[in-house]
Amino acid sequence: MDHKTILKKLKLSIQLMELHEENSFKIRSYQSAVNSLDRGDFDLMELSESEIQKIPGVGKSIFEAIVSLKETETFPALEELLEKTPTGVLEILQIKGLGPKKVKVLWQEIGITSTHELMEACQSGKVAKTKGFGEKTQQTIIENLEFKASNEGKWLYADIEETIEKLSQELTSIYEGSEIASVGDFARKMEIIAEAEWLIGMESLFGGKEKLKKWEDITWDMTASGPFAWRGKVKDLDLQVTVHFCSKKEFIWKKISLTATPAFLGESVSEKESIGDLLNKKDFSSEEEFFSKNQLQFIPVEMREGFGEVALAKENKIGELLKDSDLKGILHNHSTYSDGKHSLKQMAEYCRELGYEYLGISDHSRTAFYAGGLEIERIQKQHQEIDQLNQEMAPFKIFKGIESDILPDGSLDYPDDVLASFDFIVSSVHSILNMDIRKATSRLLTAIENPYTTILGHPTGRLLLRRAGYPIDHKTIIDACAKNNVVIEINANPWRLDLDWRWVRYAMDQGVMLSINPDAHEMDGYSDMKYGVLAGRKGGLTKEMTLNTLSGEEIEAYFNKRKSSIPFPKS
Ligand SMILES: [Zn+2]
Ligand SMILES: [Zn+2]
Repeated sequence: MDHKTILKKLKLSIQLMELHEENSFKIRSYQSAVNSLDRGDFDLMELSESEIQKIPGVGKSIFEAIVSLKETETFPALEELLEKTPTGVLEILQIKGLGPKKVKVLWQEIGITSTHELMEACQSGKVAKTKGFGEKTQQTIIENLEFKASNEGKWLYADIEETIEKLSQELTSIYEGSEIASVGDFARKMEIIAEAEWLIGMESLFGGKEKLKKWEDITWDMTASGPFAWRGKVKDLDLQVTVHFCSKKEFIWKKISLTATPAFLGESVSEKESIGDLLNKKDFSSEEEFFSKNQLQFIPVEMREGFGEVALAKENKIGELLKDSDLKGILHNHSTYSDGKHSLKQMAEYCRELGYEYLGISDHSRTAFYAGGLEIERIQKQHQEIDQLNQEMAPFKIFKGIESDILPDGSLDYPDDVLASFDFIVSSVHSILNMDIRKATSRLLTAIENPYTTILGHPTGRLLLRRAGYPIDHKTIIDACAKNNVVIEINANPWRLDLDWRWVRYAMDQGVMLSINPDAHEMDGYSDMKYGVLAGRKGGLTKEMTLNTLSGEEIEAYFNKRKSSIPFPKS
């Protein structure tokens, strides 16, 4: 049990109480307790019982629920609610845009108890005719159901990483003395994982496989398994598992084959031979030897995708990939000035503690009122506080930034004289995300051409496995960034990873720098930096092309030079 899961289960109990129309007073008291837990800056797992009792809004029943959750991962009231809710209804409750009230109508008035029945009712138009729904809601439900179905069994890399690593350890202890490697998408650090795959190299292909039956975490599907691979699923988790077998002699070439994508294996090395053909010769004893023997630069595992890496390797054009330790500062972060959880001072001190030289704070701008966007007076107050902290914390430095909303017409959120008061500006879209590709692209172009834009924030607004993001013409956007000297962020939040790594190479080729930005809304958020680095590396990102590998002094000079090129404020 951890803090986040406790909150999740409390929130679920609120939804279920609403669904079953329990006492509204009780629901409200739960809600206010959860709000206060959400806002609070603490970890429930680390608080003593008396400390928990002191949290504002936490009454007797919520307190008991938390204690029970910590000990047993559930609590009696939740169990009772779950018992009287069909599993399918529970699933429907998780669909975006359907609150408990609507779900109740679907369940009790139309008799829908599964997502499958819901889809059928939508397709027959039954849902639209139900009071309180209508055509538009019905269409949204269909889209959300389709999106959900297409994401079934898929996980964010960051969410499944720990599980797969734990499984790897278990497998290693089952097969002591054998060669074991993680292969497939996870080995290539894909942003979304639908399957955990391993390769085991054994003395002989015969015997030994049966040992897998001892692996308690996996349910095997013997009909889908064969002599070279066993397939199954992690128990209690929607994650596919495959264990491949080979002899120790074949381990290296199998490992390369099972880790690369089919597109990579198909890339030509010469007129006659592809990577796959060369692998089949099996005339090498290490990965390094395979590449050097074929006059290719070593291609790092995470890059074996089939996006032209072989052509680059032939010309020795793969630069040394970015490492976590290359990053010298953290840009694009929020504080309690807008919707962050920790104060400016806490964010700065923790950043320094982690060994970074600088922090770029960029709270939300005023149009993002729902996220506590800053009015002009608040900006002035923040700048004073930053000046003060910079005196106290030198040589560590806080840079004054803002995450300016890109308004629907592409303009930024403040008049020029206010924009001129920042060291750097991250320009991002947060509203009206449903523009078509032409409008969305031209909206971004206007923002990129604004001389105050230093960094383009999360360019597509996508949330992996949640929403696709607005469509943009990537080439046009990247070309414009090159022309206007605008940096593009790789938003390192594992839900975003936006700019997508598939565009990193193109951006670098146009001379556009990238910045690994965690978009941290709390101190812990800095730890997302590593997912941004992984995404960058997949796209071939180098230290030289990453903005926040600059030292504190260098980036200060960079911001100053950038600002001095702006014509004097017009207004
Ligand atoms: Zn943002
Ligand atoms: Zn942000």
